[in-house]
Amino acid sequence: RRHDDYAVMGNPVAHSKSPRIHALFAEQTGEPVHYEAIQVDPGGLPQAVGNFDANGGKGLNITVPFKQEAWELVNERSERAERAGAVNTIKFDNGTLYGDNTDGIGLVNDLLNHRIPIRDKKVLLMGAGGAARGVLAPLLAEQPAQLVIANRTAEKARELAGAFNDLGSIEGSGYEALEDKQFDLVINATAASLQGELPPLPDNLLADGAACYDMMYGTAPTPFMQWASAHGAATVLDGLGMLVEQAAESFYIWRGVRPETQPVIEQLRRELAS
Ligand code: NDP
Repeated sequence: RRHDDYAVMGNPVAHSKSPRIHALFAEQTGEPVHYEAIQVDPGGLPQAVGNFDANGGKGLNITVPFKQEAWELVNERSERAERAGAVNTIKFDNGTLYGDNTDGIGLVNDLLNHRIPIRDKKVLLMGAGGAARGVLAPLLAEQPAQLVIANRTAEKARELAGAFNDLGSIEGSGYEALEDKQFDLVINATAASLQGELPPLPDNLLADGAACYDMMYGTAPTPFMQWASAHGAATVLDGLGMLVEQAAESFYIWRGVRPETQPVIEQLRRELAS
């Protein structure tokens, strides 16, 4: 049976959930999509992408550590990819490499699915690396009352805020500046959870009814999720929904068909637990 070829390229990529997610999307929608994981060596991205294109491949996801390099490689970029400085989705279109970034809309859609409002709310984004940069434009498009970026290296947070201050009310600082401030939504885009760590947060950070979101996911709650539960968060979420939502947006860019995400998130949750 004929199918169209897609893949995720990264390093390491063996444990990527993307092949599983896209297999579930293909099954659900009946789209003839074949999707695999391809490990790429440092410096090898241009050739790997070129080969995939030459072999008739239709599209790619790009993950750590190649998203910035992919941004430079493509011929055309969406507005949100342009602002993110990173590309996680490539569509091959008759010799043109079209680059997009679906991470931010993935986060926003997961929040909205959980009925967590962003408009007119006070939002704190922790971290100033690639994940934080990637979600800023879609977050600001929802028009929060205020967006604060806090980062261990405060200078990086200030720089990032400066690069996006044409899109809304945004400021950057270190964690010490959060004292006496309260937020309706706190998003962890740091790599601290990976190391079992937690950024230094003041005890009274959360407003009444606040939601906390960790971009990390796994079987157990992260240190930030545990902190959130212990400090009165009304909603605490991990990043599995974002992962599936960004994949759904990529699938839509490639196929023009929007998969249902809820059953796929539930299926992945079951598989993670087993
Ligand atoms: P980067 O390496 O680009 O940035 C890391 C950030 O984390 C920096 O801001 C860094 O601060 C901060 N940081 C690292 N360790 C600590 C610590 N112990 N305490 C406080 N801050 C710390 O990583 P990425 O931005 O690419 O990724 C961040 C996280 O987001 C990862 O865990 C990744 O898995 C997750 N992610 C999830 C996605 C999803 O779909 N769910 C999508 C994309 C990313 P400093 O600048 O001071 O070094």
